[in-house]
Amino acid sequence: MLQDLNLPRRLLLGPGPSLVHPRVLRAMAMPLLGHLDPIFLGLMDDIQTLLRWLFATTNPFSIAISGTGSAGMEAAVVNLIEPGDAVIVGINGVFGARLATLVERCGGKAIRVEAPWGRIIEPEAIASVLQRSGPMKAVAMVHAETSTGVWQPIEPVGRLCRDYNALFIVDTVTSLGGAPVEVDQWGIDACYSATQKCLSCPPGLAPFTLSDRAVAAIKNRRTPCQSWYLDMALVSDYWAEQTRAYHHTAPISMLYALREALRLVEEEGMVIRHARHRLNSDALIAGLIALGFDPVPLLDQRLPMLSCVSLPASIDDAAVRARLLTTYGIEIGGGLGPLKGKVWRIGLMGESSTEANVLTLLNALEEIGIQSGWLSTPGAALQAAARVYSCAATS
Ligand SMILES: *Cc1c(COP(=O)(O)O)cnc(C)c1O
Repeated sequence: MLQDLNLPRRLLLGPGPSLVHPRVLRAMAMPLLGHLDPIFLGLMDDIQTLLRWLFATTNPFSIAISGTGSAGMEAAVVNLIEPGDAVIVGINGVFGARLATLVERCGGKAIRVEAPWGRIIEPEAIASVLQRSGPMKAVAMVHAETSTGVWQPIEPVGRLCRDYNALFIVDTVTSLGGAPVEVDQWGIDACYSATQKCLSCPPGLAPFTLSDRAVAAIKNRRTPCQSWYLDMALVSDYWAEQTRAYHHTAPISMLYALREALRLVEEEGMVIRHARHRLNSDALIAGLIALGFDPVPLLDQRLPMLSCVSLPASIDDAAVRARLLTTYGIEIGGGLGPLKGKVWRIGLMGESSTEANVLTLLNALEEIGIQSGWLSTPGAALQAAARVYSCAATS
């Protein structure tokens, strides 16, 4: 017989998943309803209303896709891109590259507009490709590039997409719930996110919205969507009040969790929530700089929910991260791709973004630094962070 699950309590400060509020975990333990039970359909309506508010959109098509953030990405691409379509894809990290792969898997032509990892994609670079090339079906880019901590400007690219009559696909997996996402104002046609980053819900759903333009593009496809599971024309018949036709069984308990997580966002208020992410990240960065770490993005292009910093030469990446996990129960992320072994990615997402967590992590790093000899005078990081908090308190 296997033992009962007896899991350690981790402080999740990596690039996702983030900590989950007890109210969300309790919601998941509620009795199961059938996926066509009128009470459950009512909960789905609540989720759609809250998602429209969160995405700042009036899009009727605003749902939660069954699957993680990558399912949201795949749904956007597989529904909007047909064989032969040309798509501009902004690439400055792992997730932009994944978007290009998906475009190609759908038979589309990915026109890669690249920037170095750690830098934004200049909207002018997109503009010049649009000027030079023939008609583009879409432009796809990542708002919060979790592999580098870069905060991409979206609105100027949205204007370009309107001017050149291209659909605009935006990945807000890491930003939604931690920084402003304005789907309507920025002219986004397909926007997807995930539950386990700034929404602080377990992984398993992808919030997703389509503009009327995008819905029309799906209706006018020349070929059927190559994915049956993610065919939004079919899935929408389940979410739409008029039809409610079975397509696949909804992940019932995950939807309970998302509804509760969205209620928590609403209770806190979007403006206060964004300011909380900003403040805790400013304090963390001040502390990390005091320890000799160097932020990878430019300071004014730095994400508030994910800090990517390069390591001082004296610090052993794997050893210190293992020590954080085993001794302190703290998880942070290492680098991906070309940044592997060179950077840390520290997430302060949703429930994980607190002053207590910032100070706990900095304190643990100082203790490890003293014990392993790469830090001689303790206290500098904690003091630097404390200064950020006291400035915020008096201003
Ligand atoms: C995490 C992430 C994804 C992928 O989400 P999964 O939930 O891991 O499938 C996509 N894009 C970005 C920017 C992410 O941070």
